[in-house]
Amino acid sequence: RSQTLRQYASAAPTAAFAGQKGSNGKYTVTLIPGDGIGPEISQSVKDIYTAAGVPIQWEEVDVTPVLKGGKTVIPDPAIHSVRKNTVALKGPLATPIGKGHVSLNLTLRRTFNLFANVRPCVSIKGFKTAYDDVNTVLIRENTEGEYSGIEHEVVDGVVQSIKLITWDASERVARYAFHYAQTQGRSRVTAVHKANIMKMSDGMFLSACREVAKEFPDIKYDEDLLDRVCLQIVQNPRPYSDRVMVMPNLYGDILSDMCAGLIGGLGLTPSGNIGRDASIFEAVHGSAPDIAGRFVRGTRCPKIDTSATGKGLANPTALLLSSLMMLRHMGLNEHAMQIEKATLTTIAEGKHITGDLGGKASTKEYTTAIIEKL
Ligand code: NAD
Repeated sequence: RSQTLRQYASAAPTAAFAGQKGSNGKYTVTLIPGDGIGPEISQSVKDIYTAAGVPIQWEEVDVTPVLKGGKTVIPDPAIHSVRKNTVALKGPLATPIGKGHVSLNLTLRRTFNLFANVRPCVSIKGFKTAYDDVNTVLIRENTEGEYSGIEHEVVDGVVQSIKLITWDASERVARYAFHYAQTQGRSRVTAVHKANIMKMSDGMFLSACREVAKEFPDIKYDEDLLDRVCLQIVQNPRPYSDRVMVMPNLYGDILSDMCAGLIGGLGLTPSGNIGRDASIFEAVHGSAPDIAGRFVRGTRCPKIDTSATGKGLANPTALLLSSLMMLRHMGLNEHAMQIEKATLTTIAEGKHITGDLGGKASTKEYTTAIIEKL
């Protein structure tokens, strides 16, 4: 097909946040507490927001999957809530491995067409890791690629999983990446790929990026192979501070965990799933069953018993920083700044940090230390 740019995609990459304050002076935001450590870290965010006086009221929804027409789907009240509020904060959702229902995370991204997953990874000043100046931003195509969920058994012992790449989705995420670079003061966009092997699929992803690059003459554009980028970042992440990396779905999922490892782990890395009509903010990490509280077994999806308090081992920073991306998306910059400062200072001081960062504080003690700094 002709690879000319489509009219519809030349609109602004995301609609501005259009939520209205209620009569109580607060915005309503959907909260999906999630599984495993989700309820515990969500509670921490709620406590910090209450203490900071953020003008938000939470609309908590349950996304336990239900059967509808033979398919496992997210319950309607949850869908309506996100659609109405246009912003949501989401805890991690567990996905059964190798069987069971489809990933609810993928379902949410597809339902709301959350086409770009933005994953910044920034060193925390004062918190010692191998490098002290990591500052990467990775934008992952969020709706297709290797995660299109199209799999079948061809014959006994042979399975095919389809990696689906479309021009429209590639162009859309590329435009978002350039727009992000332009508005966030980054001078370069690097498309990360394996087009040497996947010549057609990644090849088309690159073609779309090149076309979009022509619209942004003030932003430099280049391309690099995924394996080479991995090697270069772990050897020296500094050159990646001036740019935005954009890539197909699976590459972004893996590369962002690698970047997280450079700054102190998954407890610290936030993300935003950006769509035209809604955006959902969530930590990069999962439900961390190894450090979570008690589970209710026997449900289709392992689900935390919310009456349990959790073990207090979880680091809520990643979800908290995700929520700050959300506040900035909503234009609540001052509140975001205030909470960010309190959080980063608490980590830099190192007296009340959680076990994953080498400290001894419980989730609650760390939360209290942040609140005291607000
Ligand atoms: P995970 O991210 O849950 O955990 C990986 C490791 O990091 C574990 O050792 C865990 O204890 C640690 N960790 C993660 N978050 C932490 C935090 N906030 N504080 C301290 N330590 C933390 O990855 P996993 O074990 O591969 O996945 C568990 C479940 O989560 C799976 O069902 C998976 O499908 C799901 N998952 C969901 C999402 C999401 O909701 N977006 C993302 C990734 C994985």
